[in-house]
Amino acid sequence: MSYVITIDGPAGAGKSTIAKRAAQELGINYLDTGAIYRAIALILAEAEVKPGNEEYLREALSKIRVELRDGKVLVNDFDVSGEIRTPEVDELASVYSALPVVRQALLGLQQEQEKHGSIVAEGRDVGSVVFPNARVKFFLTASPEARARRRYFQRTGKEADLSQSDTEYGEILSAIIERDKNDSTRDTAPLSIPEGAVYLDTSDMTENQVLSFILDHVKAALSQ
Ligand code: C5P
Repeated sequence: MSYVITIDGPAGAGKSTIAKRAAQELGINYLDTGAIYRAIALILAEAEVKPGNEEYLREALSKIRVELRDGKVLVNDFDVSGEIRTPEVDELASVYSALPVVRQALLGLQQEQEKHGSIVAEGRDVGSVVFPNARVKFFLTASPEARARRRYFQRTGKEADLSQSDTEYGEILSAIIERDKNDSTRDTAPLSIPEGAVYLDTSDMTENQVLSFILDHVKAALSQ
């Protein structure tokens, strides 16, 4: 029987890497819900559909077809996988994903992915709203500083030197704090710990330690 594992948490907590690796280890699919929000936000912004115009937004959303295929995100058959990974789209996704009309339009698409088999889904409300009956739920977090250091490393390929005032590190940290604020104070689907989720602060953990923790929990739950 197929099952769903959910991983929620703030930006940069390492959800994507862990969810992808856990899915691979378990031999099941990986669902990156953030990629769907990013793709929609990019297309809406490019089409100049402003967040405040609900009627126009609804109409535009009805014409956009998002698909996830072979790890790629397609919008109306156009591959946007590369374009959605920029700091500009970080911001846009945070703005558009706060709108109920957008979340409603994307709910079915996320839930449908379960039809293709078991999944590890990662996002902001996958354990609470999208898959409330998930077999195992996790909430992964880390301090803003730890998350900024990881993001800095991803972008530059080197460790941030915190003894120097590094502008890029400072900008990444401010953007993370700002996005946390947007994602957790918004009226619609604010970031929260889903009921029954296993809470894990990964600030002082390596990627392999987090992965082992997750896999141990999942295997224990599946053998029950
Ligand atoms: O996870 P990622 O950074 O790719 O997500 C981009 C943005 O999309 C987040 O900052 C958040 O505002 C939004 N998002 C969301 N719900 C999800 C996944 C992402 O609101 N399930």
